[in-house]
Amino acid sequence: MLPLSVLEKAQAELLSYGESGMSVMEMSHRSKDYEPILEDAIAALRRLMNIPDNYKVLFLQGGASTQFAAVPLNLMNKHHRADYIVSGNFSKKAYTEAKKYGDVEVAASSAGSLNPFDCVPDTTRESFRENIDYVHICYNNTIYGTKFHYIPDTGDVPLVADMSSCILSEPVDVSKFGLIYAGAQKNVAPAGLTIVIVREDLIGNADPSTPTMLDYKAMADNNSMYNTPPCWCIYMAKLVFDWLESIGGLEEMMYINRRKASILYDYLDSQDYYTSPVVKKNRSMMNVVFVTGDKELDAKFASEAAKAGFKNLKGHRIVGGMRASIYNAMPIEGVEGLVKFMDDFARANPKNADAV
Ligand SMILES: *Cc1c(COP(=O)(O)O)cnc(C)c1O
Repeated sequence: MLPLSVLEKAQAELLSYGESGMSVMEMSHRSKDYEPILEDAIAALRRLMNIPDNYKVLFLQGGASTQFAAVPLNLMNKHHRADYIVSGNFSKKAYTEAKKYGDVEVAASSAGSLNPFDCVPDTTRESFRENIDYVHICYNNTIYGTKFHYIPDTGDVPLVADMSSCILSEPVDVSKFGLIYAGAQKNVAPAGLTIVIVREDLIGNADPSTPTMLDYKAMADNNSMYNTPPCWCIYMAKLVFDWLESIGGLEEMMYINRRKASILYDYLDSQDYYTSPVVKKNRSMMNVVFVTGDKELDAKFASEAAKAGFKNLKGHRIVGGMRASIYNAMPIEGVEGLVKFMDDFARANPKNADAV
């Protein structure tokens, strides 16, 4: 979901951006109209996330999934070893991809929970091997609806985080991470843009076989314009960054997101028709997963919800149930409306209908 005001602004500027006489979609990325858009987007993201000066912001393509390969190719070149915390589908994919490029191990996993991936594993510095190039985590597990409740202590080893489904949802201390990446399409902009925030000392050591397009140095040296960047997506991202700054930045966004999530979780905790399968301390603020415990009711819920205007509530195909993704742009009223719908549905569809 994108903020309505952002869509309206994009609509107003769609045919002619400023005095340019053309749409951003039609611009050369090296034109005098376009370059400030990219510069302003980077500057706004730096302000919003309070990104230290010794980090580069890269606007890339290929989605978060391309970073599953780019990260090991760029970072796994001293010890040729890396550790992964596996806490869900995407961290498992990242781990599997990285294994192609070196000695990669799972340092901790929640796959073995009674209810697989219902939590994020705890770790200490001792959980990780000696002489590794980095530790990788997925900060918010989109499909399972869990989130790291802590930042793993990796000592001097760079921590790499996939933040695709939680970037800009609350402040994070960027200095605790060597690299943060995120596909923009969940919480920032339309599909097609990947944000990478990387500490400068981690740039420039890519494996010689690394495709130029995946080499952070080539991208950093050319300010994300080694080739044509996703111009329109970057423009949309800039509008979203402007919107975030206008509402008061990530601190304010966090309060709003906390309120939205607690409306849903408080409701889930207050009744026993629906349950949240997630360990409480790991509950995601962005993706709220719940089930009725009855597959047919779950399916009925998703289809009736869609008819009532609550779209995309079907859980991911690998976990089933329901998932309410309440990204930044989802208004509080949307969440309140959903809770009312859930309550009405529960009354209208009693579970022991046969026995009654
Ligand atoms: C959606 C998602 C991905 C995959 O992103 P693409 O941009 O489609 O490659 C990876 N990681 C997380 C955490 C996600 O939510």
